[in-house]
Amino acid sequence: MKGTFPIDKFQSLRTPFYYYDTQLLRRTLELIRTETARYGNYMVHYAVKANANPKLLAIIREGGLGADCVSGGEIRAALQAGFPAGKIVFAGVGKADWEINLALDHNIFCFNVESIPELEVINRLAAAQGKKARVAFRINPDVGAHTHANITTGLAENKFGIRMEDMEHVIHLAQDMEHVDFIGLHFHIGSQILDMGDFVALCNRINELLDRLEAGCIQVEHVNVGGGLGIDYAHPNRQSVPDFKAYFATYAKHLKLRPYQTLHFEPGRAIVGQCGSLISRVLYVKQGANKKFAILDAGMTDLIRPALYQAYHKIENISSDRPMQTYDVVGPVCESSDVFGKAVDLNGVQRDDFIALRSAGAYGEIMASGYNCRELPMGYTSDELAHG
Ligand SMILES: *Cc1c(COP(=O)(O)O)cnc(C)c1O
Repeated sequence: MKGTFPIDKFQSLRTPFYYYDTQLLRRTLELIRTETARYGNYMVHYAVKANANPKLLAIIREGGLGADCVSGGEIRAALQAGFPAGKIVFAGVGKADWEINLALDHNIFCFNVESIPELEVINRLAAAQGKKARVAFRINPDVGAHTHANITTGLAENKFGIRMEDMEHVIHLAQDMEHVDFIGLHFHIGSQILDMGDFVALCNRINELLDRLEAGCIQVEHVNVGGGLGIDYAHPNRQSVPDFKAYFATYAKHLKLRPYQTLHFEPGRAIVGQCGSLISRVLYVKQGANKKFAILDAGMTDLIRPALYQAYHKIENISSDRPMQTYDVVGPVCESSDVFGKAVDLNGVQRDDFIALRSAGAYGEIMASGYNCRELPMGYTSDELAHG
């Protein structure tokens, strides 16, 4: 089954562009709202790095979520979209002084701190502002996720987080500092995780750590388990709203939260991934030695995931019901890796047909570049095309 697209509205738009189904986004946010409401102490922050399109950020903010930011630019984008500073968390291994100061200026909810040198800088900059910064420590739980090596972050060998052995030491350091307030622990084991067993492994590790801290009389008010819930790239229409019910239930079942603790989540991909498609036109159909190429006006500069992670995106010819034929679907950029898919079955392709690359709402538009002096793709929502 193909997706449904307002092709008549597409005719007047310059391709390539991103098209966002905001109804699907709203349904996803509604499921998150009803499922978290069961638990009372669950708080969801959207990982802005997945997609910072202001139109989507506004909808996500209306849905009641907070924002998980990894740079000063993302903090600005979140504030501009109306996220309250009290619902913004700031993560990242390399926070620059200006970014820390920006976060302090606005009194964001929490810094997720990844090293002792960073903690010292935050303490010093907070002192200069006469403030106390809330901090959580990102702990590297040494839990592997069964996902692509480039998007696994929770193993001891990764650059992220503080080693478990050092946890008590850094907490004591923070407790002795005047201008930081230790409030919690943060974890994030990777991305595109579909095996709930990976999250169970994280829960088990967190349970051990919380027991250890409790035995040492250290109270942890906030536990943040990061993001990582995956989506079904092979079947964008089968479960277009990811299974947040099972996801939250996994944590409810396996994590031994204390009554005074709040559990925080930071999904990115699972919120915006399925609502976005990259729409492009076919420029040429070229006969090669033993195959046909469909050459699109979209390339790796618009959607880099296939070139960067060998990621799969379902490709559909949304203009055609002609009989199926097989194509290598490629972009115009001068790189051999500018390939969206090899031996892809599509309804017979002609010049000017619209091609949709599905499940491209996360890590798509936001990763676009100007390589080859190409223009950045626009992003349109179904709302604005319906009314425009
Ligand atoms: C990237 C990231 C996320 C979001 O990951 P998804 O796989 O998109 O859900 C959440 N938290 C942190 C710290 C991240 O780096």
